[in-house]
Amino acid sequence: MRATEYLIPTLRETPAEAEVASHRLLLKAGFIRQSASGVYTLMPLAHRVLLKIINIVREEMNREGGQEILLPIIQPGELWLKSGRWDVYGPELFRLKDRHGRDFCLGPTHEEIITELVRGDLRSYKQLPILLYQIQNKYRDERRPRFGLLRGREFIMKDLYSFDRDEAGLEISYRKMYEAYHRVFSRCGLKFRPVEADSGPIGGSVSHEFMVLAGAGEAIVLYCQHDPCGYAANVEKAKSPATRPQTPEDPQPLEVVHTPGQRTVEDVTSYLGIDPERIVKTLLYETDRGLFAALVRGDRELNEVKLQNAIGAVHLEMAGAETIRRVTGAPVGFTGPVGLHGVELVVDEEVANMVNCITGANQADAHYRNVNPGRDFKVDRITDLRLVHEGDPCPHCGRPLAMARGIEVGQVFKLGTKYSEAMGLTYLDEHGAEKLVVMGCYGIGVTRTLAAAVEQHHDEHGIVWPAAIAPFTVVVVPVNVRDEVQATLAEQAYEMLSAAGVEVLLDDRAERPGVKFKDADLVGYPLRITVGKTAGEGLLELRVRRTGESRLVPLADLVGAVQSLLGDDR
Ligand code: ATP
Ligand code: MG
Repeated sequence: MRATEYLIPTLRETPAEAEVASHRLLLKAGFIRQSASGVYTLMPLAHRVLLKIINIVREEMNREGGQEILLPIIQPGELWLKSGRWDVYGPELFRLKDRHGRDFCLGPTHEEIITELVRGDLRSYKQLPILLYQIQNKYRDERRPRFGLLRGREFIMKDLYSFDRDEAGLEISYRKMYEAYHRVFSRCGLKFRPVEADSGPIGGSVSHEFMVLAGAGEAIVLYCQHDPCGYAANVEKAKSPATRPQTPEDPQPLEVVHTPGQRTVEDVTSYLGIDPERIVKTLLYETDRGLFAALVRGDRELNEVKLQNAIGAVHLEMAGAETIRRVTGAPVGFTGPVGLHGVELVVDEEVANMVNCITGANQADAHYRNVNPGRDFKVDRITDLRLVHEGDPCPHCGRPLAMARGIEVGQVFKLGTKYSEAMGLTYLDEHGAEKLVVMGCYGIGVTRTLAAAVEQHHDEHGIVWPAAIAPFTVVVVPVNVRDEVQATLAEQAYEMLSAAGVEVLLDDRAERPGVKFKDADLVGYPLRITVGKTAGEGLLELRVRRTGESRLVPLADLVGAVQSLLGDDR
């Protein structure tokens, strides 16, 4: 490919709207252009990278027996009603009506449509297992589309669905995908970490996310640095053992303390001169399953995802001042569990262990002292509600957890029978008995992976593509295209490399060398071959983008030198 015939619209200015490196660099280096918020065109360079990632994904899916299909993007609303997700998915679902007024949506994910598809064609256990996948556009009307390709409203995903006879079969399919994901992200040149994850609105029980570790990541990962423990989970899922009071105490009689205007944990701790570990926070939530009060220790934060899972709620919102007054009879800041009626209490396991704690008294300017769970209020439900922080003990080995930011590039879920039950997907076993199919689903954000690679591989000059997914692995730059000797040698280098199967771009533009070098660094080709002063002696300069290391090679040795520098991941 020749630069004069190729659309690489690099920008001189750094785009002001881009907050993270991948967004900034992909715009600046001419890889993407925005069409609407969260909607992008992939320009020729990005499209080449995309195809390389897709190729890796496809090879690894096929290796595990995945069969590629293409499901419709437009999905009938009735299938989503059947699965129960038409209402659950909320405003993220792009909904539309056809000319007859029938409901449709643009697929954000494809469990419904594939379950229905397999239902139509599956009869016998002999047909199982089945692994079907597709690589295709997905649509999610994200609340905050941002960071370029990292969080779009239209993006490309690989989604595979597994269909098995039983849990044992699912375990095998899940393992296969887990291993395949390792290979995919390794081959893409990414540093990543699989972590335990919450399964969210997709449903199911067991799930892992594959996180590319990068400062721009929106996900927070807690992990144990100590071998061989290896515990790792995203913050929504992360656990840490509940602590118990250090010194045993006898329960004391309940008493009211006057706390005028002391609403927050900080207020009350300083006013009463006590530790926040003495306090119990009572947080009222309005949910689709009614009103709940969540109780956590004063120095802890509530993990809303854990609360949501504990009560099986889809929507959850902290109660406003009006609701608080109606339910507790007191203004904000004095809510407590004692005598609180009409609200289910969900109690963190740590709170359940507490003795003689301080809580709000459900009256203005008052708290209770010496509150004892079980004695002074009925504990409806005890569960883990805490948000885990860096430094909290590891749930497996007890040593302090470390924290990192990650970009979720893939997620694998054990769905179990959630969708087969809702949509009637069954098969006949060898005894002729009708059984529910056990499912799994496995997604990779392909366009997000592209951006994640840039987040991990760039420097102040531009992108530094891992060779396996670079748009071109080599750029040949004649310093002066009007110089006959240089132009001819560059042309020869270009021809030789192309013939050897190396993906090479010839920068034959009549630009100043500084401009071409800058662009080469910005676009991030792993190798640059400069044809300049030494062209007369038949020597070319080979420079490695990542290290800046360079050497002179004669034309005859060029292919060998390039191949050895690119290594196996060419
Ligand atoms: P997130 O938590 O980041 O919103 P998700 O958990 O909702 O993602 P999944 O339903 O697990 O996403 O989708 C599978 C994969 O698709 C994700 O692991 C991610 O790589 C990618 N993905 C999801 N949402 C987006 C998006 N808005 N833009 C780009 N890629 C996305
Ligand atoms: Mg996910």
